[in-house]
Amino acid sequence: MKRLTILVCLSCFLILNSCEQKKEVPQMNTQKTFIDTVKERITAYSPVKVAVDTSFLSAKEKLLLVKLAEAGKIADEIFWQQSAHDARSVRDSLAKSTGKDNEILKQYVRINYGPYDVIYGNERFIPGEPKVRPLGAGFYPIDMTKDEFEKAIAENPSLKSQFEDLYTVIVRENGKLKAIPYSQYYSEIEALASKLEEASKYAEDKQLNAYLISRAKALRTNDYFESDMKWMDVKSSNIDIVIGPIETYQDQLFGYKASFEAVIMVKDWKATKQFEMFKKHITYFEKNLPEDPKFIRSNINEESQLNLVNVAYYGGDCQKGTKTIAASLPNDPRVREAKGGKNSMYLNMMKAKFEKNLVPIANIILDKDLIPFIDEDAFITSTTLHEVSHTLGRGYVYGNNKLEVRTALKERYSALEECKADILSMYNHLHLLNLKEFNDDMIKKARVTYLAGLFRSIRFGTESAHAKANLIQFNYLREKGAIVVDKDGKYKLDESKFWDAVKGLANLILTIQATGDYAKAGEILSKYAKMTPELEQAIKTLQNVPRDIDSSYLFE
Ligand SMILES: [Zn+2]
Repeated sequence: MKRLTILVCLSCFLILNSCEQKKEVPQMNTQKTFIDTVKERITAYSPVKVAVDTSFLSAKEKLLLVKLAEAGKIADEIFWQQSAHDARSVRDSLAKSTGKDNEILKQYVRINYGPYDVIYGNERFIPGEPKVRPLGAGFYPIDMTKDEFEKAIAENPSLKSQFEDLYTVIVRENGKLKAIPYSQYYSEIEALASKLEEASKYAEDKQLNAYLISRAKALRTNDYFESDMKWMDVKSSNIDIVIGPIETYQDQLFGYKASFEAVIMVKDWKATKQFEMFKKHITYFEKNLPEDPKFIRSNINEESQLNLVNVAYYGGDCQKGTKTIAASLPNDPRVREAKGGKNSMYLNMMKAKFEKNLVPIANIILDKDLIPFIDEDAFITSTTLHEVSHTLGRGYVYGNNKLEVRTALKERYSALEECKADILSMYNHLHLLNLKEFNDDMIKKARVTYLAGLFRSIRFGTESAHAKANLIQFNYLREKGAIVVDKDGKYKLDESKFWDAVKGLANLILTIQATGDYAKAGEILSKYAKMTPELEQAIKTLQNVPRDIDSSYLFE
């Protein structure tokens, strides 16, 4: 995904903070307005119970789901410790208190996984300090600076790999920074590993069984490579699970540390079959990327999988604030080179967001002639192509097969990676039109749905990589004249300029990634990942539309 998933250097964060939605933040001066503000903010999340069809599962598979959900809840508990330094203590102290206002606070703390507001620049909405969540979330000492971290490595280069490792927490001991592996740091690890082993006994699918056992071992050894490889082999099971430390969005200081999450999925075989066509074009997409041909990889793994699934449980990172609707995993480029990626499209989540968020946005923001072209299938298709597009382009910097693009671009990576996936999703629509897989009507719907989608994602909050990615796209396409405003202040597209602008932006991002150009990534973020007065006005007209969903599942 990121996941749809994500991150910004300190200077860039400050720049964004200064020009983004600060004006929207209501004042929390008195107890009354403080509670009222939280009440108001909760309405940004439309409550929805997402449905999943389990009727075709065997009795044993249904028991397996129960066991996996138990494991998911343990992963969720670990994430509470990562989300913010005092997320768990705030949650637990609220749980002990009673009163109507406390119910509101509990609910909002649950949505945000702690006392910091995901939508409002991670501002604290519960009394306490600091007023804004430390960029390093719960992964580093709260007062640690980038400088202190980098100085410690400069003084002792042998610390570099453990300090920058995805699966270590940084603590300060006797005034010195120290990296502790997740396997030693989190007391829930053993319970989680045992639960996965217990669940494996209900998994009749051989590959799923092997993955669960291997994942338990990974949790204990802090080495996830082998289990990620085994996860790629899980293909024919009705049930699948993503569990463990996965995405690095929460670490906005460096983007190094992975957050725990759990996604329990029930496969939708019919929908999966529908989208199989994309897979056969992956090599074509890669060979025709709009970038300098020398950057195009010669070895493209064609084994990438594309699964349409319904979510039975979300826990941890993916459930925090804005909910994930799809994921392209695993993130380890060694696994991706060997076995491709597994793209999981969360069908019931996409449908919920289309109905609760996207349609109301389109009705307000788009030129009225475009509204009939807002389309659920187009939304699902472009989201699916977004995930496919995460597998395109370079995982390693050109000319340096040891340097991952992720590492080279550090905290600027996630927003650019999301932008790449979005813009290539659109660009690949054009390929599919040329290949006669899509027709003009589908392209029209895709473009209109894409335009409304930009406004949907820009509203995810200043700290979100997805919001930044969509700001880049909106501002770039607006600058190129591909997005225009009609006389009533509603948005539409200039179709004659659209594809050139899409191609131009795709080229820009792909080139930054291929060259691992950290400075240029910063330039693009400063120039485009920002709110403009016009956009701020437009977003204001959407204030009564929920920004996201507060979803609950078969297992809670
Ligand atoms: Zn993504």
